[in-house]
Amino acid sequence: MRCKVRVGLTGTILQNNLEELWCVMDWAIPGCLGSPVGFKNKFSDPVEHGQKHTVTKRSLAEGRKAVQDLAKRLSHWFLRRTKALISDQLPKKDDRVVYCSLTDFQRKVYRAVLETDDVTLLLQSSGKCHCGSGRPRKKCCYKLNADGVPVRYLYFSYLAILRKVANHVALLQSKEGTSKKQEKYVTAICEQVFRKFPDFTGRCKQAAFEAMSDPMYSGKMKVRNFSQRSRTYITIIVCKTNLSLYGLEYHRLDGNTKSKDRVKIVKEFNSSRDVNLCLVSTLAGGLGLNFVGANVVVLFDPTWNPANDLQAIDR
Ligand SMILES: [Zn+2]
Repeated sequence: MRCKVRVGLTGTILQNNLEELWCVMDWAIPGCLGSPVGFKNKFSDPVEHGQKHTVTKRSLAEGRKAVQDLAKRLSHWFLRRTKALISDQLPKKDDRVVYCSLTDFQRKVYRAVLETDDVTLLLQSSGKCHCGSGRPRKKCCYKLNADGVPVRYLYFSYLAILRKVANHVALLQSKEGTSKKQEKYVTAICEQVFRKFPDFTGRCKQAAFEAMSDPMYSGKMKVRNFSQRSRTYITIIVCKTNLSLYGLEYHRLDGNTKSKDRVKIVKEFNSSRDVNLCLVSTLAGGLGLNFVGANVVVLFDPTWNPANDLQAIDR
């Protein structure tokens, strides 16, 4: 592009990755950050290494130095403006936290998960081993579970399972967004749970997302529901049943939505009076969207990383 001045505009660029920063800067001022390879070696690699939780003191120092150097180099060209600058022009935001306690059934299933052999192993893993070696169980005789899987691989799988139970037991049945590795545990857990609760399937079909269709959040208000991508599919299936029952029109946007459809959905949502509800997954909703038509955001299922939710709310 031949022109006198180039201005690159971007949102929260640094949150994503430094290569994106290089792209924008190099487009606006060709060559200002050197070659992509040079930039990677000099800046992005040291910065990324410096952020790892296993970082050595040396890498940490190198990372910090790289950040300083980069900031110094950018300072001639880079103008950062945050939303604090226009906060007085934005509508006031009320945050309301609604705690939804587990139903008796959820609590029973939650307990059933806690009582499985794997979770028992996990909960006791830091205790001293019975063999008298003085080492913690997870580093001694209880390194593996009954299937020979290292105990340290189980933490996240079971956290995810417990989280599903806390949201809606029906989510256990969904394989959508579950990794192959987790799928095995989920299937095993389901079998155990099903055995204990033969009426499981019947019950999870009822009394699902009533809170979502509460007049406080629906009616004439526009509601965005965010839920983490991994769970969107089943969330939406359950939501769909309920929303259709209440006769609500809604749109849906998640990681599977094609980019040209995303724009269409957002446009329609912002302009149409008939569509008052858009179900959006947090990760999809956080990126490059502008839902100015919404005045209420319901975070159905907060993510591990609060930054994801905050970014999605801001849309
Ligand atoms: Zn031992």
